[in-house]
Amino acid sequence: MHITITTPLYYVNDKPHLGSTYTTIACDAFARYHRLIGNKVEFITGVDEHGQKIQRTAESKNIKPIEHCDSISKEYQDLWSQWFISNDHFVRTTSHQHIDLVERFFKKVNDNGDIRIGNQKGWYCVGCEEYKEVKANNNSPECPIHLTMLEWRDEENLFFCLSKYQKEIEKLVSDSSFIQPSTRRNEIINFVSKGLKDFSISRINVKWGIPVPGYKGHTFYVWFDALLGYISALSDNQQNIILEKGKLKGWPNAIHVIGKDILRFHAVYWPAMLMSAGLDIPQKVFGHGFLTREGLKMGKSLGNVLDPKELLDKYGDEPLRWFLLSDIKFGQDGDFQQKRFIELVNNDLANTIGNLLNRTLNMSRKWFNNSIPTDIDYNNDNELKVLAKSIINDSLVYYENLSFKEVCQLLIKLSSASNLYLNDKQPWKLIKDNNRIGEVSQYIYNVLESCRIIALLINPILPKISQEILRQLGYKNILNEWKDELKWGRLKEGTKLPIPKPILNRIE
Ligand SMILES: [Zn+2]
Repeated sequence: MHITITTPLYYVNDKPHLGSTYTTIACDAFARYHRLIGNKVEFITGVDEHGQKIQRTAESKNIKPIEHCDSISKEYQDLWSQWFISNDHFVRTTSHQHIDLVERFFKKVNDNGDIRIGNQKGWYCVGCEEYKEVKANNNSPECPIHLTMLEWRDEENLFFCLSKYQKEIEKLVSDSSFIQPSTRRNEIINFVSKGLKDFSISRINVKWGIPVPGYKGHTFYVWFDALLGYISALSDNQQNIILEKGKLKGWPNAIHVIGKDILRFHAVYWPAMLMSAGLDIPQKVFGHGFLTREGLKMGKSLGNVLDPKELLDKYGDEPLRWFLLSDIKFGQDGDFQQKRFIELVNNDLANTIGNLLNRTLNMSRKWFNNSIPTDIDYNNDNELKVLAKSIINDSLVYYENLSFKEVCQLLIKLSSASNLYLNDKQPWKLIKDNNRIGEVSQYIYNVLESCRIIALLINPILPKISQEILRQLGYKNILNEWKDELKWGRLKEGTKLPIPKPILNRIE
């Protein structure tokens, strides 16, 4: 299967924050999972670079907008490589490819009769790049998100005839598989049921945008332009992407992972735009929650913004990946708590999984000539094998639904069960009895095999720790046939084991 997974295209108004890092990590885990099960993946991330807000930010710094975009865009690219993100594409909406695609897409929509000229009046937030609904008697309204004064606008705009797609969009958003998690669906169904209004897709006073062909003075509204980045990303190394049904690679088997605040753009406006251009609509839109810090909303004014670069330098990528994906149910809001982060990482990774591996490898090396024990019954029925089998099946289902927390919990369950298994069998007592060495071999093998399963299943979430566990197990044939390798009994008896070392140093 060929599949496309996207993060939002992040607005380059400011440097990357933990929220965008969180979305990108989740998409990375999802993309890695799909590659492991044998799918061809187009993992897209990138930046959204146009709009009045960028223009004003650049003006305030006394530089050209493109200089500002270049610098923030580079910060994103550097950050993702430091975070070990496996994206296949990084799209910039200032690229020639993208601009060309926007022009051609607009022409298709225009030719289809879905563009009209109209007047747009209303209160506008430059921060959100969005008109806001305001009570009639309010003459100095503020943006509820930015807490800044809204600006009154009354101008000629081009409109996309969204109202023509009322029926199709109603049908789409009521499909239970399109908007995930299901808790977010009602909000959109509600919005659509009130009647879709045509939305403005151009601005006449914004210079920093893509000019609308044939409409002098108009530039494209930043959202119309940015959403198309998902498609122009697919045109990497391809001169002209063909805007026809069935001609886009990795499409329509596409999943957009976004913050819940931009769900409307992705679940309503975007599908209608694609329908108008005669293209397939994506398979799924997943709206995840927001991150707070110690219970408080993060913001510049509070001075409590977590910098993903600083966190990375201090703790490393995998402890943070584990915390963000295992502590927060993906889809719901989450809270970053320093104390909880440290406890969780030390307990789960250093203690539960790390100690299990370390103590078992040490016993195996000490009693069995620095190797995995021999005389193994590979079909031995035992409680760890039974548990591992059900955990593998459940994990695959959870991965499919982006339920990372649930996968993490299962892996801890298997690790804890393996630790208990050792405590119960007490091989360190049995080994003193020459007649029971065979039993000890099998017990040690079963726990090592359980560690191998954990390492394989954890790979999308913690790729480096996964590889390190497999290396310490002397397991060579790594990740080529992942699903097949998940079968019990693949560790070879008598394999030499390297000297074990902690998979993670405890965080203080
Ligand atoms: Zn705003």
